[in-house]
Amino acid sequence: MQLNDQIKTVIEGSTKILVHEQSLTSKVPPQDMPFFNPKAKLSRDLSIIAYSAFLKNFEGPKTFLDSMASLGARGLRVANEIKNIKVFVNDLNPSALELARRSADLNGLKNFETSENEVCQFLSAFSKRGCRSTIVDIDPFGSPSKYIDCGVRATLHKGLLSVTATDLQVLHGIFKDACRKKYYGVPIKTTYSNEISTRLVLGLVNMVAARLDAEITPVFVETNMHYYRIYVRVLNRPDTQNAIGYIIHCRTCGHREASSEPADCRLCGSKTEHAGPLWIGKLFEKEFVSSMQGEITDTADKKCAKIIERCLAESDMPACYYTLDEIAEMNGSSPIPMVQVLKRLQEDGFLSSPTAFNPTGFRTDATINKIREIFSS
Ligand SMILES: [Zn+2]
Repeated sequence: MQLNDQIKTVIEGSTKILVHEQSLTSKVPPQDMPFFNPKAKLSRDLSIIAYSAFLKNFEGPKTFLDSMASLGARGLRVANEIKNIKVFVNDLNPSALELARRSADLNGLKNFETSENEVCQFLSAFSKRGCRSTIVDIDPFGSPSKYIDCGVRATLHKGLLSVTATDLQVLHGIFKDACRKKYYGVPIKTTYSNEISTRLVLGLVNMVAARLDAEITPVFVETNMHYYRIYVRVLNRPDTQNAIGYIIHCRTCGHREASSEPADCRLCGSKTEHAGPLWIGKLFEKEFVSSMQGEITDTADKKCAKIIERCLAESDMPACYYTLDEIAEMNGSSPIPMVQVLKRLQEDGFLSSPTAFNPTGFRTDATINKIREIFSS
């Protein structure tokens, strides 16, 4: 492949990224050239914001490992847009790394190194005490399950691990056995399946970390049509908190909740369906999300502020959101505007918030019966 053929410069954030022209125009990723997805800018913007928020309160040398970097878009941005950090990007494709190095030169980066290695071999070089990285990113095509072990091992005590999953069919239960094999748990089909999927990914990371005498604390998660992405703090201590359990869902009355064990519906007594085992703890750390608000730059996608605002609002809310449409359908009525639902719930003494998981989703501690009553009043 001729590297100089049709190379274009894309500016994302304040970083120049060299990409093949074809990756900007074709809908299907070109197979024989380094992958770049221009639509992933939002995800990269959010990661710059999350990493900046994390590093603000971090003392000591700062490093970032991008284990599946392709042409290095995320790593280049971290190296260029975050101060005093050393970035290592790894990929198996030498022409992707060549492009990454040329982009690094274009941005005048001296804190950017490339590595051509298998993912776990790359991460293993950082897994000894004293060599571990402040932030580690795992961003594969498909499931990240194969890489969680080496990812956790390469992350410093109190460091940050970010993981993307794009095998949404598996996580949504189209291949249940595959999901059990890769994530140790199974999903169920609901209106809030993206939350269940995110919790399955967190459940996997938690279980692998526990095996390695480490514990995770989710600080931020993000979902999209094409991927789910989690950010967890990794703490090397064996007294792992028990935040693994089940999401139980009642098809009879619509009740849903997180629970340590599968159980019958506590509202109507019916048998329930359950997803899990999965992560039933918090998805967001309120203080962390709040500090992300201070890191939104002018060049970030306008959606970032809205997403972070919603995450902050839902950070202390119960698991399992509801959607306006499903309640309206249950009641045979038309949907009520979100602001009204949230207001009426609060007026009746309940907690309520929107959710970043779904534009028509909301969280509350009110029961389904109470929610339906509000919808029909
Ligand atoms: Zn029920």
